[in-house]
Amino acid sequence: MVVFMYKCAKCGKEIEELYKVRCPYCGYRIIFKERPEFEKSVRAV
Ligand SMILES: [Zn+2]
Repeated sequence: MVVFMYKCAKCGKEIEELYKVRCPYCGYRIIFKERPEFEKSVRAV
């Protein structure tokens, strides 16, 4: 099961899918979906 993370467009905080409708930190309502990129982060090192 893949877990998708979401990121607030205003404050940039990572948000759980449960809160994807609205940022729990600043209340902003534009949330980006983020995909975990394991391979890329390994290569960056
Ligand atoms: Zn926010």
